[in-house]
Amino acid sequence: MRYLILSDVHGNWEALHAVLNHCRRKHHDRVLFLGDAVGYGASPNQVVGWLRSIAPQADAVRGNHDRVCAGLDSPEYFNRYAREAATWTLGQLEPHHLDHLRSLPVGPRQLSAEIALCHGSAIDEDAYIFSAFDAALSFAALPQRMVLFGHTHVPSLFELGADGDSSAIGVRLLSGRRVTVTLAPGHRYLINPGSVGQPRDRDPRASYAIFDDELQRLYIHRVDYRVSLARRRILQAGLPAVLGDRLIYGV
Ligand code: ZN
Repeated sequence: MRYLILSDVHGNWEALHAVLNHCRRKHHDRVLFLGDAVGYGASPNQVVGWLRSIAPQADAVRGNHDRVCAGLDSPEYFNRYAREAATWTLGQLEPHHLDHLRSLPVGPRQLSAEIALCHGSAIDEDAYIFSAFDAALSFAALPQRMVLFGHTHVPSLFELGADGDSSAIGVRLLSGRRVTVTLAPGHRYLINPGSVGQPRDRDPRASYAIFDDELQRLYIHRVDYRVSLARRRILQAGLPAVLGDRLIYGV
């Protein structure tokens, strides 16, 4: 089985479109979506429309922005720009897309004995996994060999050895145009495929992953897309300019 793994699209249709074109020739059987379809970007309806269209072949969890932009929670804890974008997004979403966003399952989702999905961490969809300590908490919370997460917008991997010693968790940034990782037998992993629509590792290219469970191999791909168009559409929508500018730098 081959999985296409996508996270943090954030209403950026230009980036998602480029990723879907890029992965078209790479076979996959299922899509795993790790949350934050919307928020920040100018195309929430197009992105949720795509998510609805692939629902039969996909397993998804909602993100914190999906929760707030769908009106399920108040934006009071968001910073000013995220709050403005959330209010704008809620006003833009067509009713059937809003219904779909509201129906996205809350993570973590344990898909099989091998794979689980979450947005932030295995414990809390709003928590970040940046450090080995954060990773240890998530390894302890779920039994799966591979837990996929999003939210940080940084393609990265945490590895727990076969001895289960959480004081020796390995951390790896998966930066570069194409990164291949072969998973070691008996080891456990927390894996972030990076963000499709708002990368934050100082590489503006859209990020996504493919996992081949027969080969036990993970591929991270970075894809150029029309950043200037995504930025222009953010400005034209009247969203905060900083949300367009940050796409140029990948921050
Ligand atoms: Zn996000």
